[in-house]
Amino acid sequence: MKIAVVGTGYVGLVTGAGFSDFGHDVTCVDIDQARVERLRRGEIPFFEPGLHDLVQRNTNLSRLKFTTSTAAAVEGAQIVFIAVGTPSAADGSADLSYVIEAAKQIGAALTQFTVIVTKSTVPVGTADKVMAAVATTAKHPFAVASNPEFLKEGDAVNDFMKPARVIVGAEDPAAIELLRTLYQGVLRTNDRIHVMNIRSAELTKYAANCMLAVRISFMNELSHLCEVVGADIESIRKGIGSDPRIGNKFLFAGAGFGGSCFPKDLRALIHTARELDVPLGVVDAAERANERQKRVLAHKISQHFNGALQGKRIALWGLAFKPETDDIRESPALVLAEQLRSAGATVVGYDPEAMSNVRAQCGDLIELAQEPYAAANGADAIVLVTEWHALRAPDFARLKSVMRQCVAFDGRNVWLPNVAREHGFSYYGIGRR
Ligand code: NAD
Repeated sequence: MKIAVVGTGYVGLVTGAGFSDFGHDVTCVDIDQARVERLRRGEIPFFEPGLHDLVQRNTNLSRLKFTTSTAAAVEGAQIVFIAVGTPSAADGSADLSYVIEAAKQIGAALTQFTVIVTKSTVPVGTADKVMAAVATTAKHPFAVASNPEFLKEGDAVNDFMKPARVIVGAEDPAAIELLRTLYQGVLRTNDRIHVMNIRSAELTKYAANCMLAVRISFMNELSHLCEVVGADIESIRKGIGSDPRIGNKFLFAGAGFGGSCFPKDLRALIHTARELDVPLGVVDAAERANERQKRVLAHKISQHFNGALQGKRIALWGLAFKPETDDIRESPALVLAEQLRSAGATVVGYDPEAMSNVRAQCGDLIELAQEPYAAANGADAIVLVTEWHALRAPDFARLKSVMRQCVAFDGRNVWLPNVAREHGFSYYGIGRR
């Protein structure tokens, strides 16, 4: 099948490379010329495990191509995926300008009947807007469908190759048939494809992200109660996670969630609900709880130093919004760095993959160290914000030998408190005894 993918970010590039690996002829298009040039040279513009090999293999076989021309990509394509960004607008709604612009460009490029599929996360009802935008420029018939993406950064290739489910929102029979055929190679069993109306598909994506965010915020709030009553959130996590009705995923208390999806998707769903005057109090509360949670580490640090952070040197381990990605969009580590800096501290950070993004986007907010123990050098406290594997079992003796004061804040509850304390560290976790 000939496919075009518009947008070569985390979703578009994984989608394009993934379908090409199943033998399809895929052209990915991006308006960012520098990005396309890098892709043509075989460079992946962001860190995503396994993606380099996938792209290289399929580029070498000429099944995967890159262009800046929507017309060239869309010409002759049976399916065109829209995978451009939908960032938060100032009022919390999803900014659809990239999606609508892409839709107009696709419309103008159509050469035959084509199914235009929104993979970007878009508010319920967006398909109507996409249809209207395509219609302003199209000279050929088309159908619009929704196929929201559920991949996780850091494990995106696996998620794409072995999806737990595929959601297809479509009402046009030809679109449903084409998408079923396309996913046949990816899904060896038919029961993992869920065909529904377009609005349900659009909303399913928000429902999934909001449900996961609610679980995290629930545990974060509970962690505060734990600290007050002398309970341990980690014991509670295991206690409830072993209940099959609850399950053990997304129950980790921590420094708040960030990233390019959860925060913006919560805001967008809350905005949609408010506009339609339908209360979504649970989602609203999860979002507010997360805003508070992103201040918890700064509060603990300030309390430890009796509010005197002026001149203190604080080391942050982990700057990406989660491990295995270089994505720093809405990263809790950057929120913490801002808070510490405005209280007069110097912040020195280390991250295995995200430092060039931090350097490019955060100016002098954070001093960067080339390796974790260099970040801790001369520090008054060390804070784990993102639980990369390599940062989960620190050598506390080594930390002690380089730090000015032995204070450890474990924003992800992965360090062993006893080990830290045996080495003379004051240890603070989240909702931990
Ligand atoms: P991204 O910001 O990494 O990439 C978007 C790309 O689209 C950029 O390279 C940009 O230059 C390009 N673009 C914008 N307008 C264009 C146009 N008219 N023509 C061609 N290219 C254009 O975005 P992302 O993280 O891949 O997210 C894309 C969408 O997928 C968003 O709606 C997001 O919410 C959703 N999503 C993201 C993830 C994730 O983990 N990142 C997971 C599931 C869903």
